[in-house]
Amino acid sequence: MPSVQLNSDVALGVAIPSRNARGRIARLGSVVDTVLASHHYPPVIEKLLAEALTLTALLGSLLKEPQGQLTLQAQTEGGAIDLLVCDYLGGELRGYVRHDAEKVEALPEEPTLQELFGKGYLAITFDQPVAEERYQGIVPLEGKNLGDAAQSYFAQSEQIPSLVRLAAEKRGDHWYAGGLLLQHLPEGEEGRERLHTRLDHPDWPHVAILGGSVKADELTDPELPLDDLIWRLFHDEEEVRTLPAIPLSRGCRCDPAYVRSVIAKFPEEERAEMVGDDGKITVDCAFCSSSFAIEPKELSS
Ligand SMILES: [Zn+2]
Repeated sequence: MPSVQLNSDVALGVAIPSRNARGRIARLGSVVDTVLASHHYPPVIEKLLAEALTLTALLGSLLKEPQGQLTLQAQTEGGAIDLLVCDYLGGELRGYVRHDAEKVEALPEEPTLQELFGKGYLAITFDQPVAEERYQGIVPLEGKNLGDAAQSYFAQSEQIPSLVRLAAEKRGDHWYAGGLLLQHLPEGEEGRERLHTRLDHPDWPHVAILGGSVKADELTDPELPLDDLIWRLFHDEEEVRTLPAIPLSRGCRCDPAYVRSVIAKFPEEERAEMVGDDGKITVDCAFCSSSFAIEPKELSS
């Protein structure tokens, strides 16, 4: 079996059976650089998107179906950012941010979620087409980073005691981002409707203290393989298991044929207004900044 390197652009599942704890750990390197290369964001937005992509990888790698999709979307009002979207499909990640350059300029160095998003909400959508399972949770964007918001999502929407840590750092010319998600979930548990969960189960605080001791520096260090980091945190536990690693990459699903079919649905007069000076309709993909030029006469037939 070819071994997957566990330093960056990878997510790893973790289980601590004796504590009924499970989770994911992930680190992104060139995936973040590739996503950011399509945009020209200020550093504070680059850091936020790096953390958002890491959270997307942690949550996306929880999906059981290979066709499953996970989407993070921040809807906001009055903040420096008015839209943030990231998604995950089969290990492929993409994302973008829409922001107000002047407001971003005025932000402190380490802005809170409220300073970034104003009155904002984070929608997390799990979509598993084979099982026809789709559910969405929405939580207020409050706290110091997206990890805090994700933690409240699990506590409020899913009633699962959880710990989420995210970090991103530019080392030299390259971004590295890492995240840890741990949940208290009795092994083999099934069903989404939980009647009751003890948030004070003695196993959980123990796991949360060990997991919570992870340093931002350890999450982002590309020299530290993820299995070594898990060992560093949990080596006193009776048993720690890892699941097969999931390689992560930057992937965009924009497709010229699809773009053409969407434009073709507009009434002819509206399409005429879209035609640029070069006689073509140009559509840009918000995720990867690819540009598609369409000849209007291709659409009229
Ligand atoms: Zn694209």
